[in-house]
Amino acid sequence: MTAFEDFLQTELLALDDQNLRRSLRLVDSPQGARIRIDGRQFLNFSSNDYLGLANDPRLKAAAIEAIEKYGVGAGASRLISGSLSPHHELEKVLAAFKKAEAALVFSTGYATAIGTICALIGKDGIIIVDKLVHASIVDAARLSGAKMRVFGHNDLDELEDILKWARRRRTSRADCKVLIVTESVFSMDGDFAPLAEITELKEKYGAWLMVDEAHATGLYGSRGAGRVTEAGLANRVEIQMGTLGKAFGAAGGYVCGSRSLIEYFMNRARSFIFSTAPMPATSAATMAALELIQSGDGDARRAGLWARAEELTRILGLEFRPPARKAILPLMAGDEAAALDQARSLFDRGIFVPAIRYPSVARGQARLRFTVTSAHSQSDLKILASTLQKTGHTAPQAATGPS
Ligand SMILES: *Cc1c(COP(=O)(O)O)cnc(C)c1O
Repeated sequence: MTAFEDFLQTELLALDDQNLRRSLRLVDSPQGARIRIDGRQFLNFSSNDYLGLANDPRLKAAAIEAIEKYGVGAGASRLISGSLSPHHELEKVLAAFKKAEAALVFSTGYATAIGTICALIGKDGIIIVDKLVHASIVDAARLSGAKMRVFGHNDLDELEDILKWARRRRTSRADCKVLIVTESVFSMDGDFAPLAEITELKEKYGAWLMVDEAHATGLYGSRGAGRVTEAGLANRVEIQMGTLGKAFGAAGGYVCGSRSLIEYFMNRARSFIFSTAPMPATSAATMAALELIQSGDGDARRAGLWARAEELTRILGLEFRPPARKAILPLMAGDEAAALDQARSLFDRGIFVPAIRYPSVARGQARLRFTVTSAHSQSDLKILASTLQKTGHTAPQAATGPS
């Protein structure tokens, strides 16, 4: 074996030893409440397809029609080979949906975070993030070269202390920009950020605020516009971003804000400039999803989702102030091996739920992460309840408590 192969094998074995090795499960069906893995059907509690749109006939028809009209690939970056009209149409409706002047679409949410954060803040700036923000935000902050400061999860006092420190630093360096980044709904615990209070603080200290709505868009607020617009903050939060791969059931990422912000990103966001545009069919499917999300059908799906979420909350023995409105529910295991064991014993009984481990969460914070969707039925949840009773995996406590 070459030294190179040796290195790879050693690293993989080390992951094995810590119960942190990951592998792919081959799914040979569309996403949905039920999926087929290796020819066997499973009840699926692993997906972020919150509104059951990933396999919706209207999205599929829109994608197929766009493929007929525009073909498959976009050919190059939008700044190079010309910008296909489905992307423009999507950006227009997305901006209106988010009550923003303009929007820009990226190929993934991850690429959105990297491109936008690095475009705004460089090595002279300061980025302040919640301890539990998504890896894409942490990676962007590192790549930007800015000073990164982390505040305890939703800890407004610590955020204010850091803002005071940043203000002192800024008085000595006029070019020092300060950006706060948080999520409106956190990806591993499903809990909320106090957006109004954070907005007050950023205004008091002259910082900018970016909110990632990956797990909120489509779910919260009037017609699913998200928690920023629900809180009436759309014209105070400088940068709103999210993914088109979760509740939208498609793929991609978006950012929205003022017209000049979007012009700026078009010129400065490197993951937009130096990357092939998304497939036009993806934007066409997303547009169909957006129409559905804003319709009465969308309202009905959200109502169904929250009803299922309440049932799942009860089944897992978690307690939240009603209405819970949490589609992500963690069942804490702590130990990585314990989480894997629990996931395996549920898998053996036809329930697919991921064991989330480091580095997705801190070491010793391993958990089963249940996500519920509007495509689940009441009887799906009854099956889960009786299976959990058989395996004995119910009801320790929640990761973060009431929110
Ligand atoms: C999933 C997620 C992303 C990344 O979006 P993709 O479109 O999957 O790349 C970014 N931020 C948060 C909070 C997420 O949960």
